[in-house]
Amino acid sequence: DPRAEVIASSIRVVPNFPKPGIMFQDITTLLLDPIAFKNVVDMFVERYTGMGISVVAGIEARGFIFGSPIALAIGAKFVPLRKPRKLPGEVIAEKYDLEYGTDCLEMHVGAVQPGERVLVVDDLVATGGTLCAAISLIERVGAEVVECACVIELPELKGRERLRDKPLYILVESR
Ligand code: 5GP
Repeated sequence: DPRAEVIASSIRVVPNFPKPGIMFQDITTLLLDPIAFKNVVDMFVERYTGMGISVVAGIEARGFIFGSPIALAIGAKFVPLRKPRKLPGEVIAEKYDLEYGTDCLEMHVGAVQPGERVLVVDDLVATGGTLCAAISLIERVGAEVVECACVIELPELKGRERLRDKPLYILVESR
């Protein structure tokens, strides 16, 4: 798909951010290019239209940017999966490991109903830890993760393997 090349070339790679040795994939430059941004949304919407998905769960913060327009276009509700102490209602929480320490995602109780078909959206998959936590939150309330969708995959970190049976769909690989 030639649209993927437009997306890939709009992503800025910033060496040594946020710390030495990291090649940070910066999607803010993609957002500055309306054609690249539209390509992302169009490619996901084409894939997920008519699949009976009733929930798009977006991961804070960049999963909100891509998840919201997908939810609107496919007629699904949008559910934010947030960092701790951001959501005001009753939440369930799922901790996950980072390179140093742990982090946590929270979801409002009642936002996703048992049996609902859910698409999980984030900007990038690295180790897969964040997507794993998101999948756990959704499965704990008895809903089904149809697929995880990310703009970028860092394939050398093998995040895909941590998702086991859950399909992962990506638009571009980091380079
Ligand atoms: P993982 O849990 O798969 O190791 O890391 C993925 C999470 O970290 C995603 O929420 C993603 O936004 C963030 N992340 C890690 N590295 C990068 C990067 O290079 N660029 C961007 N945009 N996000 C990153």
